[in-house]
Amino acid sequence: MPIKKNESKKIIEKGKKRELIVVKKEEINLPLDKNAICPKCGNQGAYWEAAQTRAADEPETKFYICAKCGHRWREY
Ligand SMILES: [Zn+2]
Repeated sequence: MPIKKNESKKIIEKGKKRELIVVKKEEINLPLDKNAICPKCGNQGAYWEAAQTRAADEPETKFYICAKCGHRWREY
């Protein structure tokens, strides 16, 4: 039955795709800021992480990690 064969192939391809996405998310488990621009390569889109500051009255500092080149920088 050719229809059944096509169906099973589709499911396998979908499963592979889903697996790849899960692995990628585990590698970089940070939110993506689409408006952040990398100062090194100029790529728009970077992962960010809130830095822990000791002083409670200090504003929250964000660390960015470029989604393209992996450059890290800090937002003041
Ligand atoms: Zn970059």
